[in-house]
Amino acid sequence: MTEVAAEPITEKLAELNLALSPEIHYRLGTVFSRTDSMSLEQAISQKYPLVKACEPVLLKALFEREQVLFVCLGELRFQKTIVVLTNLRMLLFSTDRKQVPWQPYWAIYYSQISELQPVFMEQYKILLKDGSKLKFNYFPWQDRQNFQPIYSEAAKKIEEEGLDPPVSQSRENLCSNCFATLPKETYECEACGATFWMPFDLAIRSFIWLPIGIFAMRRTRVAIREVLIYLFLLFFVVFWQAKGNTMFAIFTFVLTNASCGDWMYKQAKRGLLLKEIPLEKQAVN
Ligand SMILES: [Zn+2]
Repeated sequence: MTEVAAEPITEKLAELNLALSPEIHYRLGTVFSRTDSMSLEQAISQKYPLVKACEPVLLKALFEREQVLFVCLGELRFQKTIVVLTNLRMLLFSTDRKQVPWQPYWAIYYSQISELQPVFMEQYKILLKDGSKLKFNYFPWQDRQNFQPIYSEAAKKIEEEGLDPPVSQSRENLCSNCFATLPKETYECEACGATFWMPFDLAIRSFIWLPIGIFAMRRTRVAIREVLIYLFLLFFVVFWQAKGNTMFAIFTFVLTNASCGDWMYKQAKRGLLLKEIPLEKQAVN
C-alpha cells in the first residue's frame, strides 16, 4: 500500500471537480491509498463513487470526530456489503448493485475482532470475539492489501488506549434510522422509536405472498421484480392444475411460498429491517 499525503489528493480532487463532504473527517491518504502500479488519478477515480455514495449514511452514523480511514465493496455471504474502517470501529452497510448503502447496518469495535484470515483467492474471513465470523466470498485483492495495514494500525491504537466498549454481540446492529446501537434481539430503537421486523413476522407475510415481505423491507423496485417472478411461477401452478395434476400444483405452490418465507426469515435474522419510523423522527430512509 502507498499512502499518499493529503495535499496532493485534495488538489487532484479539485482538479477532477470532485467534492467530498466537509462534515466528514477523512484520512485521505488511506481512503485513496493505491498500489505502486496505480496513478493517484486512477486511485481516486476508482474509489470516489463508492465513498461519495456512503456519505449520506456516514453523516448519520459517525460519532463526533470519528475519522474515516478506508472504504471498499465486497460480498459478505454473497450479499454486496460496503466495509468502512474508521479510527474507532468497522462499519458494514448492505448495498445494492448501484452501490447505494442500504439496511441492514452493523458496527464492530476493533476490540471485538480477534483475527483477520485471508482465504483462498478473493475470499476473506474475519473472526470475532463472540465466536461468530464474517465470511467474505469476495473481498477485492487490491483492497485486501490496503485493508490489512490500515486495520492493524487503527486496532493497535485502540488497544493501546484500552478502549473496549461493552457490547451485546461482536457485530452490533445499528438502527437504520438514527444509527444508534441496538442490543441483540431488540426490535425497537430506544433513541428514535423506530421499529424493526421480527424474523418470524416477516417470514409469515412472505409465506402468504413473497412481495408483501419485500415491500415491507421498503425495496419497492425489488418487490416489483419479485411480483413478476412470482406471477410466472403461479402460471405454472395454474398450468399443472389445469392439466389435472392438482397435487403437483399444490406442492409447487407450497414449496415456492415456503422458500420465500425461509429466505425472508434469514434476511430479517441477518440484521435490522425497518418496519416503522415515528413521523417526526424520520431521518435517512
Ligand atoms: Zn433509531
